[in-house]
Order: sequence, then structure tokens, then C-alpha cells
Amino acid sequence: APTSTVRHLKTANFRQWIDGLDAFLFDCDGVLWRGSAAIDGAKEAIALLRSLGKKVVFVTNNSTKSRDTYVNKLAGQGIPATVNDIVTSASACAAYLRKHDVQGKVYVVGEAGLAAEVTAQGFENFGLEHNGKTEVPTPFTVDPAVGAVVIGLDRAISYYKLSYAAVAILNNPGCKFFATNTDPTFPVDGAVLPGGGTCVAALATAVGREPDAVIGKPSQALLQTILSTHNLDPARTCMVGDRLNTDIEFGRLGGLKTLLVLTGVTAPQDLDHIANEAQRPDFFVESIDVVNQLAK
Ligand code: PLP
Ligand code: CA
Repeated sequence: APTSTVRHLKTANFRQWIDGLDAFLFDCDGVLWRGSAAIDGAKEAIALLRSLGKKVVFVTNNSTKSRDTYVNKLAGQGIPATVNDIVTSASACAAYLRKHDVQGKVYVVGEAGLAAEVTAQGFENFGLEHNGKTEVPTPFTVDPAVGAVVIGLDRAISYYKLSYAAVAILNNPGCKFFATNTDPTFPVDGAVLPGGGTCVAALATAVGREPDAVIGKPSQALLQTILSTHNLDPARTCMVGDRLNTDIEFGRLGGLKTLLVLTGVTAPQDLDHIANEAQRPDFFVESIDVVNQLAK
């Protein structure tokens, strides 16, 4: 059955919409940039919202970069930010390990940004040096001190790393299994590539169970942590994103306002058949640049 369409944010709605909001959670890729290319008007839109007294927090499911790298990436796009303004699925995963009192070493199937965040939380961790290793020796044993495996997108994943992670989860008593995010894909210039979810699915298949927790959007544990850290009222906070099943669901389930931009993975025709009402945004705009026009 056809569903009602999503409203376009218009000048007539803008004043009321903005007056009802204190804060914005911004997805990054597909909203502020695509890969390394800035989206027109993004830095001006962030500056405008801040000039109106709105708090801005950046929330990305990309686990491959540390928050320090994001500070630099944002600065390179003309958007000032500090690490406290940024939450990545890697930083949130590392904070989750700390909060849940994980014991022992952490085996990282992921990239340097994830390892850096796990290190920053004080966990002894390894895995990166296994990049490129493929041969699995027999007998095969893993460090019995590994108390958790964390996995995100690992573009150097190998059969050895998958084996190490799986055997740690299966053989180390109480070993936890955490995933940064389960995005199936992410877009780059000219193609859509396998996302972190593909690595997670491989490991989940091997161990015959799902992760103990998936940390990134749309996790409500993550949203509640962000709201309490920044002392935000969900009803006066807007999630801005390009993906219905991560960003918009993340906001909707937590009682936030939601704004979809069409500069990322969602096409206009996708709005005509939204299967899950929790993924229906309040409004859409073609691009975050529209916010600059509406404010004039
Ligand atoms: N995961 C990876 C590896 C990515 O490169 C990206 C985008 O660049 C994402 C996830 C999605 O990031 P975001 O939540 O900022 O759209
Ligand atoms: Ca995105």
C-alpha cells in the first residue's frame, strides 16, 4: 500500500522548526561530504546553526578513523570541532568496553582508528600487526588473555585475522564479541563498497552467534549516551542524516526530530515506499545547503 510521503522542509516551516530545536546530531558522510569531496554549503550550514545558538554533535558510523582524524577532516572542510563534539562507532565502542568493565586484552579486527580509540580507553590490544597474514598454523592457539574481540570495517581482513577472532570468542571463556557497526555498504566516488557489516557477518557466521552488542547507529544505547553527555532534550534535538535504517531510525526511536538529506545513499523515490515507520523522517531537503537558503 502506498504510504504518505515525507514533507519537504520549506521556508514556511523553517522558523517554527528551528525555534523548536536546541541541538543537531550530524551524520557525516553523505551529509557534510561524500568521501573526500565537501558538499556545497555544509560548512556554512554548521556555522549558521551555531550562530543561532544550536549545539552541534557529529555522529559517524565510520570506525576506521579516530576522533583526532575527524577533527582534522572537519577542519579541512572548514568546520571547527573538538574531539568532544565527535562520536564515531569506534570511539563509542571503546567507551562501551570501559563502561562495561571488559577484562583482559582486546583483539581488534579493524583499522588504525579503532585500535587508537581502544588504546585511548586504556586497553591493551592487538590485531593490526596481523594484517596480511593468511596462513593459519596448526595447532592454532590464541592468547588466553583476550577478553573481547571488537570488529569493524577492516580493509586488510584476512583468513588469519578472522580465525584468530573466532577462536578467541569460541575458546576463551567469557570472551565478548562487539561490533562497531553493521552498515552493509558505504558509498565512494563511482561505487558502493562493502561496509563494516560484511566483516561482522563473516565473524558471526564463524562463531554461530550475533555480537554481544552492536555499538553504532541506530543503537539506542549510543543515543542515550550522547544525550546524557551533552545534556540534550530529545524532543528538542534533530538528527540529520542520509540513511533511513541507521540515521533516521536512530533519531526516531529516541524521540528526536529527524531531517533526511538526499546527498547520500537515499534517493527521492525511496521516500515513496518506506517499509518501516521508524525510518520515516519528519522532513527532507535536497542538501544541507537548503538550510542556508531557508534562513535568508
Ligand atoms: N563505514 C565506513 C568504513 C565509511 O567509510 C563510512 C563513510 O565514509 C561509513 C561507515 C558511514 O559513515 P557515516 O555514518 O558518517 O555516514
Ligand atoms: Ca551517512
